[in-house]
Amino acid sequence: MDKRKFIKKGLLGLGGLIAAPLLANGKGTYAGHPLSKEDAAGSKFSLPSLPYSYDALEPHIDAQTMNIHHTRHHQAYVNNLNNALEGTGSEGMTLEDINRNISSFNIAVRNNGGGHFNHNLFWEVMSPNGGDRPAGDLLSAINGSFGSFEKFRELFSNAAATRFGSGWAWLIASEGRLKVTSTPNQDNPLMDITPAGEQGVPVLGIDVWEHAYYLRYQNRRGDYISAFWEVIDWNAVAAKLRSA
Ligand code: MN
Repeated sequence: MDKRKFIKKGLLGLGGLIAAPLLANGKGTYAGHPLSKEDAAGSKFSLPSLPYSYDALEPHIDAQTMNIHHTRHHQAYVNNLNNALEGTGSEGMTLEDINRNISSFNIAVRNNGGGHFNHNLFWEVMSPNGGDRPAGDLLSAINGSFGSFEKFRELFSNAAATRFGSGWAWLIASEGRLKVTSTPNQDNPLMDITPAGEQGVPVLGIDVWEHAYYLRYQNRRGDYISAFWEVIDWNAVAAKLRSA
């Protein structure tokens, strides 16, 4: 990866504390949806554009699921978050700040602030050019923390498969190493309410709510998890790890 790409990728990292535009639009330029509330037009959080078309992840994730997931589910988290933040005095806090201090907020902010953060990350770590396996420093970190890529894949897939009900499985940077964990609902490992050992900076996440896979895979969550490996953008994951 050349330096320009590295910088561009680095700016995409949610681990960074800077308020960078989140996602590129389909033409490869930034759509200009900022992460931080204060930088947004009208000082509200907004739905980021996807950096690829709704059918780009076919056949692994179908266009209808992607469309509904983005325009209905994610949009609802954004709308509900903006409503829930009214009167909380949180102006000036980034989305990341809010998640890191979630114990100071009510359950509506927790559910929807988590929902917004989690889905931003989810869209970023997938790509029509994804799949295969990580390389370089990311692969070294995975090998160092789990022994091998295969072992990591087994742990992550198992965490996703065994998360009861709705939630997420994560690869996180925590205490100088990588760990696999999972959270219920729209919680995430940034939040200051997760059990000891589960806190860290998410660098990869899979949404295992049924809305993420039911249209194509029905109850076969395992098939969806297998398909997810075909679209993971390891460059995006590596960039998140660098900025974690
Ligand atoms: Mn979702």
